[in-house]
Amino acid sequence: MKNTGKQIALIVVILLALGYIVKTLGKQASYERILVDTQANKLFVKSISSKIPAEYPMKSPFSEGNNAYPALKCMKCGAVFGVKEKPAVKTAAEETPSSPQMRDMGPPTWPRCPVCGSTVDITVPTLPEGQKSMDVAGPIQLIEEEEPKEQAGKS
Ligand SMILES: [Zn+2]
Repeated sequence: MKNTGKQIALIVVILLALGYIVKTLGKQASYERILVDTQANKLFVKSISSKIPAEYPMKSPFSEGNNAYPALKCMKCGAVFGVKEKPAVKTAAEETPSSPQMRDMGPPTWPRCPVCGSTVDITVPTLPEGQKSMDVAGPIQLIEEEEPKEQAGKS
């Protein structure tokens, strides 16, 4: 069979293509997030699988135990701080706020800088290009992720 060689080559090409697709899909199943290690005072990039719900604090490569929180930075005073993020589990009722009380809640709460109190210049910090981690000035403060204020029903 003259074609055998060609067929084998074709199969190899197909296998390579499949491998590439699997690799690409595998990459898409994770995302990168900037975390801050509150023990080691390190800001670093963590690849997080999008298949498993992320729980914070999570393990940090720079210290023992779970000390890594999602990082935020205040552009006003330069402070880097962590957010005690709640697991992203929401009930359907929470997803679709329809109660009339919602009007009283005001705008969504935005993290407040624990150092200077600013709420307008809070952003996710970035790392210098090509770097996966960097030192930050400690001690790193933590803020609680604010929950929508639940108004106790006055009966
Ligand atoms: Zn600040």
